[in-house]
Amino acid sequence: MPETADVVIIGGGVVGSSVAYYLANQGCTNVLIIEREERQGLGSTSKSMGGVRAQFATEINIQMSIYSIDFFSRFEEATGHTADYRAHGYLFAATKESHLKYLRENLEKQRALGLNDAEMISCEEIVKMIPQMRSDDIIGGSFCPTDGFVDPNGVMTGFAKRARECGVRLWLNTEVAGINIENGQIAGVKTDRGDVSTRTVVNAAGPWASIVAKMAGQELPVSPLRRQIVKTQRCDFLPAKFPMLIDMSSGFHFRREGEAILMAWPDDEETYGFKTALTHEFIEKILMHAVNRVPQFADLPVNPHQCWAGMYEVTPDHHAIIGPAPEVRGLYCANGFSGHGVMHSPATGRIISDLIIHGRCEVLDATPLRVERFAEGKLLEETAVL
Ligand SMILES: Cc1cc2nc3c(=O)[nH]c(=O)nc-3n(C[C@H](O)[C@H](O)[C@H](O)COP(=O)(O)OP(=O)(O)OC[C@H]3O[C@@H](n4cnc5c(N)ncnc54)[C@H](O)[C@@H]3O)c2cc1C
Repeated sequence: MPETADVVIIGGGVVGSSVAYYLANQGCTNVLIIEREERQGLGSTSKSMGGVRAQFATEINIQMSIYSIDFFSRFEEATGHTADYRAHGYLFAATKESHLKYLRENLEKQRALGLNDAEMISCEEIVKMIPQMRSDDIIGGSFCPTDGFVDPNGVMTGFAKRARECGVRLWLNTEVAGINIENGQIAGVKTDRGDVSTRTVVNAAGPWASIVAKMAGQELPVSPLRRQIVKTQRCDFLPAKFPMLIDMSSGFHFRREGEAILMAWPDDEETYGFKTALTHEFIEKILMHAVNRVPQFADLPVNPHQCWAGMYEVTPDHHAIIGPAPEVRGLYCANGFSGHGVMHSPATGRIISDLIIHGRCEVLDATPLRVERFAEGKLLEETAVL
């Protein structure tokens, strides 16, 4: 007799774990998470910078963040595990009038959706938060104090642990190699541990999502794109607590993690592909932007062994793909987060579990994220891409 499950989740990262949690929370516990690695989080999740923010440009991203950040603020109560949510804020520093216009317009959208904490701030206020910054070209910015950071592994572990306490099963070291379909309906998955019979599959395979979708004959425009994080040695000259600073002139951003500083930067020259090697060339490039914004970074050592690279799962409009696959009944996509999968994991779990159990999600309307938007030419435009 093959193993059976009401729902099979392919991928045990933060997204698969959140979907499992929300399903279990609503009483759907005959769920199996299948993860090919020997432990969870070895995909993109453990590579994340852990940033969470509601300062986005599109309604759907703002709504997903408001839902998720509220959940992070009571994560421990919900899961029994800490997400280590630190509401240190995100600070966008503008160097052009066009940046300010863009931030103002976004702020209006954020306010209209109930995010009351975000505000425009002056250059003087920015310098007060990070006095070591070079500010001669900064003309203002925006700040939201409820944005901040979480521990990505903590979030994943909290979701997965609580789901498993409710009866969800987790298979590690198990690869899904195929998806069985009968008359356009999911019938099961093939794994190197045997077949599993199910009528519902959630694709939570991160950067590998399009490979998994293809197993069911579904085209999914999700591509892996390398992103690298540089971690410095102990930094004493910056404040003990300050927000994630986004330098809008270059996209360079940094935050404190314990004694060290984490730095990131979207390198336009990076090309798509399954690449996870850290490069010295990137370290050189990012440090140029770092020193340009905070001159004292020139004297702060970086140990390449503490830096890392991972992959974003990117879609053509930099928005997630969430919802049922149009061509295969019983297949659900939770993919393509384009750099926001940790921060949007609570909203995603809620939406997918509601769609599976109730056929709709009343808390968050994710129809703008359906995969059909690409064929219909209804792409979303999120310009606040980090
Ligand atoms: C450098 C970097 C910085 C980032 N910073 C942030 C940030 O600040 N904030 C934020 O919100 N997000 C950030 N992200 C993005 C975030 O990490 C991802 O969006 C998120 O982790 C995606 O989670 P996931 O569970 O979908 O994917 P993953 O964590 O990759 O999990 C997918 C899992 O599926 C498994 N899998 C794949 N194929 C199969 C198969 N055939 N069979 C079985 N298992 C399979 C993989 O082994 C993997 O464990 C960052 C990403 C990177 C790389």
